[in-house]
Amino acid sequence: MENRIYNFNAGPAALPLSVLEEIRDSFLNYSGSGMSVTEISHRSKWFDDIINDAKERIERLLKLDEKFHVLFIQGGASMQFCMIPMNFLSKENVADYVNTGTWSTKAIKEAVILDKKVNIVASSEDRNFTYIPRDIQFSSDSAYVHITSNNTIKGTQWASFPDTGSVPLIADMSSDIMSRSLDMSKFDLIYAGAQKNIGPAGVCMVIIHDDMLELVQENLPSMLDYTTYSSKNSMYNTPPCFAVYTIQLVIKWLEEEVGGLKKMEVINRKKAELLYGVIDSSAFYKGTAEIDSRSLMNVTFRLPNEELEKIFVQEAFENGMGGLKGHRSVGGCRASIYNATTIKAVEALTDFMKTFEKQKG
Ligand SMILES: *Cc1c(COP(=O)(O)O)cnc(C)c1O
Repeated sequence: MENRIYNFNAGPAALPLSVLEEIRDSFLNYSGSGMSVTEISHRSKWFDDIINDAKERIERLLKLDEKFHVLFIQGGASMQFCMIPMNFLSKENVADYVNTGTWSTKAIKEAVILDKKVNIVASSEDRNFTYIPRDIQFSSDSAYVHITSNNTIKGTQWASFPDTGSVPLIADMSSDIMSRSLDMSKFDLIYAGAQKNIGPAGVCMVIIHDDMLELVQENLPSMLDYTTYSSKNSMYNTPPCFAVYTIQLVIKWLEEEVGGLKKMEVINRKKAELLYGVIDSSAFYKGTAEIDSRSLMNVTFRLPNEELEKIFVQEAFENGMGGLKGHRSVGGCRASIYNATTIKAVEALTDFMKTFEKQKG
């Protein structure tokens, strides 16, 4: 469509064009209701159908059995950083955390604020979070292990997940949820702020196993207690209706247009290969993550100097490619290539990178 750029934003990020078009077309009159989807009651059959269809599609894509519950919670992924220790840590028990960057660090910080006992079992801080730690010794008696599956800012990603034995594994999957096939039998709780891969900002999807719900601490404020959401189909209070509706459409796109997570993964690998290919065959661009820890979602790289990086981001924008500036905390460049970013967009970027190198290298 005219005037739309190739969007490499880190989050909020690109959404599938067909989803945006469907929202536009149904915006004033949702499904013959005579109301916008932002005007219907969350207690109506219309919204019931939306949230239930979203859940069923998520269950199918991730092959979840009935022991898993799909919840929609406000407060972003960041609120999960405090909900997890509040719900699962008492005064006595301890949780293991792996620190792989900014978001893991923030998750740890919230547990510490709550005066919970945290054990940092591994960290990649020694090399500026450019890799995923390996051969980690987890404690056998911790309440849970917390990891960040994809490190949005540093551009690293767990290629496979650790075996934590009988200790529940919890993962912040905000920036790679639904981007590849996933064996959910390894996990007891995963969560993802929607605005990277599955929808707009305003909602966090949480998938939690029955066994974890059994462990929820007593006397939590209702809105911070997972059982409030699991017992009320995420509608104890007014849910973020529009965000949930958009998730429903994105998940439908993933299921019906893309054809599932395996196919999505093939496309995502192809996109990442194209970009890393240009970076690796050039002395001008330099990837910042260690090769075996590279993210398929956030490709982080540097140019020979900051001045050139500024010009690169500016000229890319003039050529219809947005969102390539690295996170403010690390600088450099970053191309976020989430599910909705097309191969065509990535090809436009790699062409631009080659031309830019010829001119400025
Ligand atoms: C973006 C992001 C967050 C923060 O998400 P909010 O919804 O803004 O709270 C947390 N973790 C990861 C891995 C992220 O990419």
